Amino acid sequence: MASVRVAVRVRPMNRREKDLSAQNIIRMDDNKTTITKLSDGVSGESLRDRTKTFTYDFSYDSTDPSNPRFTSQEQVFSDLGLDVLKSAFEGYNACVFAYGQTGSGKSYSMMGTPGEAGLIPRICEGLFSRINHKTSWDQASYRTEVSYLEIYNERVRDLLRRKSNQTYNLRVREHPKDGPYVEDLSRHLVQSYSDVEELMEGGNLNRTTAATGMNETSSRSHAIFSLSFTQAKFDAEQPSETLSKIHLVDLAGSERAESTGASGARLKEGANINKTDLSQDSVNLKKKSVFVPYRDSVLTWLLKDTISPADVNYYETLSTLRYANRAKNIINKPTVNEDANV
Ligand code: ADP
Ligand code: MG
Repeated sequence: MASVRVAVRVRPMNRREKDLSAQNIIRMDDNKTTITKLSDGVSGESLRDRTKTFTYDFSYDSTDPSNPRFTSQEQVFSDLGLDVLKSAFEGYNACVFAYGQTGSGKSYSMMGTPGEAGLIPRICEGLFSRINHKTSWDQASYRTEVSYLEIYNERVRDLLRRKSNQTYNLRVREHPKDGPYVEDLSRHLVQSYSDVEELMEGGNLNRTTAATGMNETSSRSHAIFSLSFTQAKFDAEQPSETLSKIHLVDLAGSERAESTGASGARLKEGANINKTDLSQDSVNLKKKSVFVPYRDSVLTWLLKDTISPADVNYYETLSTLRYANRAKNIINKPTVNEDANV
């Protein structure tokens, strides 16, 4: 399982796109995604020249629920979320990123809506349902903590502190052994999914409120929902404790990087979470689409891309598809985070 998985998802047309009579330029067949540029009627490019096909681990068509190929939130979770849970129970870290332009469906895929829960709530729920189904003979005890933060303009804010107001004043520091971390970020012990739900809702509310108050939108900030999951085992010859971290990341809109004009900047922006990256899972990007492996404590780095189906977004979408294509080249070297004798 030591790999990165890349999924691309296409959402339904929104009202604006329908009003513009936008055409769907995305086609998906099995794990392939095809994007076709509309003919401009001038340059005489052939259909073949205008068509590009990419292969990913998954290509999710979520445009139309009546389509037999339609991919639901549940399906996305069973393909991607279940592996995250499996990794966590095996003692590995895991990370899911949603990358794409604003409005393409990142938050929908990660957080979802009240009726259509996304990956984050489903992963949390799955974690507790597994803990509760463990039998008493397996002699393990579990401890789960939740953090939720937002990064805006290289600055970090705690979304789970009631009185955090709207201040982005947390410092990112480097621990000699554990790597980068956010100083004073609150960690909340949770005993059940409903504990998580309450925190998640508070954090989401915090995020939106601040966005409106500052006349900014969440499209310009990254949000990271983190679970730290400790399993203590007493049944072995030696007691052991294993810590797994799960980072679920809703990235800022990918169009943000456009203004820099630098080629590849968008890519770097999306993948890096910049210098404020809190996880040990940061990705450094080098030229020629070679990803340098980040810290070796991560088993699964999932990159879930979300794209818009509309022709008006051709260039943005193509850039996302290329980004996702490069992400496939990431090489992972995972290790179990186990401490014996604790
Ligand atoms: P982003 O976070 O990338 O800016 P959102 O997740 O907020 O985009 O999605 C924009 C809008 O499209 C929202 O109203 C969302 O509910 C809707 N949407 C996105 N993806 C889907 C989907 N797969 N199915 C149905 N609605 C979706
Ligand atoms: Mg969003």
